[in-house]
Amino acid sequence: MKIYDTVIIGGGPAGYTAALYAARAGLDTLVIERMSVGGQMALTDIIDNYPGFDKGIDGITLGMQMQAGAETWGAKTQYGEVVELDLDSDIKTVVTESERIMAKTVIIATGANPKPLGIEGEEELLGRGVHYCAHCDGRFYKGREVAVIGGGNSAVSDALYLSRLCKKVYIIHRRDKLRATAIYNKPLSGASNIEILYDTIPVSVSETESGEKALKLRGANGGKERELSVSGVFVSIGRAPATALLSGILPLDKSGYIIADETTATPLRGVFAAGDVRTKELRQIVTAVADGAVAADMAEKYISSM
Ligand SMILES: Cc1cc2nc3c(=O)[nH]c(=O)nc-3n(C[C@H](O)[C@H](O)[C@H](O)COP(=O)(O)OP(=O)(O)OC[C@H]3O[C@@H](n4cnc5c(N)ncnc54)[C@H](O)[C@@H]3O)c2cc1C
Repeated sequence: MKIYDTVIIGGGPAGYTAALYAARAGLDTLVIERMSVGGQMALTDIIDNYPGFDKGIDGITLGMQMQAGAETWGAKTQYGEVVELDLDSDIKTVVTESERIMAKTVIIATGANPKPLGIEGEEELLGRGVHYCAHCDGRFYKGREVAVIGGGNSAVSDALYLSRLCKKVYIIHRRDKLRATAIYNKPLSGASNIEILYDTIPVSVSETESGEKALKLRGANGGKERELSVSGVFVSIGRAPATALLSGILPLDKSGYIIADETTATPLRGVFAAGDVRTKELRQIVTAVADGAVAADMAEKYISSM
């Protein structure tokens, strides 16, 4: 049976950068992707904070170019979902719905997904009024009114960021006080264009004829529903790492991220974690591609030492 030098799980920016570096280093490299290439990048129309594109680039094109770059050097892509892993032995087994694949090293680059709210209209308006990344998409709402859903650190940090661009920012929070740490108190009280709607739960979002978004809200303790008209809605209720597969196999932190530092090494020899899936400060494309390069380099060194 064929044994790959490295199998990379996930065809996002971390996965295809790992593939580029691994294939360029002469490793027999396979990327397994369950959906379409690009990962979370494919959810955004314009990326303008990835270096090298003065006019920005759309996420789908960037993902396809990353794939093409890796494949030019000989990396292969196989579409399918990895459903089981055996990572303990020197030769690892990666099981998809249709086959068992063997490899000397495995790079896990399965990413993390923003948690959806699950309300009516959310999926339909994704990228056209409903967003999961304020730093990425906030600039579309310069001078306009927006809502941020959530009450934790990331929601408040998103709201503060948006308050510098937008005319008005509503924070919609289901509880009677924010969960964000006290460090945000001062900047929040200084942001006169932020209004917090406590004890408030979003019910649905729809587009009006004028293109504004009608966010239907209800009180957490009952009461009448009401509508808030905004230009954009930013959902910031946390991210969920795609690590269900790894529970009991690798150490995960309390949020489910693989515990790994800048080396991307995990406690299992020959297994590396790159990109949004691992514990880190900033989950962005540039940090994902950096991890991919490091993971491939680590895989190559590990194989040389075998
Ligand atoms: C809407 C949106 C806009 C964004 N805009 C920006 C931006 O402008 N700039 C920026 O820097 N960052 C942006 N980000 C964040 C950025 O996209 C992520 O940080 C980056 O994509 C992480 O890359 P990754 O390769 O680690 O994971 P992902 O991009 O999440 O890729 C992981 C891949 O693994 C696949 N996968 C998962 N599980 C399996 C499995 N079991 N089997 C096979 N395949 C699997 C997934 O299908 C996915 O394709 C945005 C994110 C979102 C959601």
